[in-house]
Amino acid sequence: MSAEMELFYEKQGKLLIKNLQSRHFEAYYCHTRQEALETALSLIPEGSSVGWGGAISAQQIGLMDALKAGNYRTIDRDTVEDRDAAMHACLNADVFLTGANALSLDGQMVNIDGTGNRVAAIAYGPKSVIVIAGMNKVAPTLQDAISRARNVAAPLNQQRFLLDAPCSHTASCSDCKSIGCICNQILITRHCREGRIKFVLVGEELGF
Ligand code: SF4
Repeated sequence: MSAEMELFYEKQGKLLIKNLQSRHFEAYYCHTRQEALETALSLIPEGSSVGWGGAISAQQIGLMDALKAGNYRTIDRDTVEDRDAAMHACLNADVFLTGANALSLDGQMVNIDGTGNRVAAIAYGPKSVIVIAGMNKVAPTLQDAISRARNVAAPLNQQRFLLDAPCSHTASCSDCKSIGCICNQILITRHCREGRIKFVLVGEELGF
């Protein structure tokens, strides 16, 4: 990454942290993936049960691998027979890890979900929610963040599943009502009670 980009992310990150804190989220800015990994681990007490939904950014900083290698009770829906039971168990986990489809500079988060397990856990259930987000997710306004989530994150995410929906072919959103639509729920998280939700912002491109 160029020095200019690093500075851009760092300065935007400073403003975003201030705005997140004004909404009573906990927020941390990390320059690198390694720093983000250490910060995220410091927020998870040993022995905790930890689940996750769509959290590619958390994977990219090595968080799931570190948790599995450490003294934590991980709930990984991809490695168990009963995926649905694992997703329900995540709702009662001590800690839930997630990414963000978009963040507005004024400190709001937008997430889109097909199954609904991820947005459900963000909204209610786990005692602690940790959001790992690269600064590439930041948009100037809430409207821009919603647009990013709908027009960039969702069609990109669909390339993983290639379900029966227009964006599987066009890579652009046509606000579909297709059987393979992955945009069933859209959650805006605009405020937080008692620091339940923590943001670990990373000055690198992560996820999509
Ligand atoms: S075309 Fe449908 S599935 Fe694809 S991004 Fe738009 S609403 Fe979501």
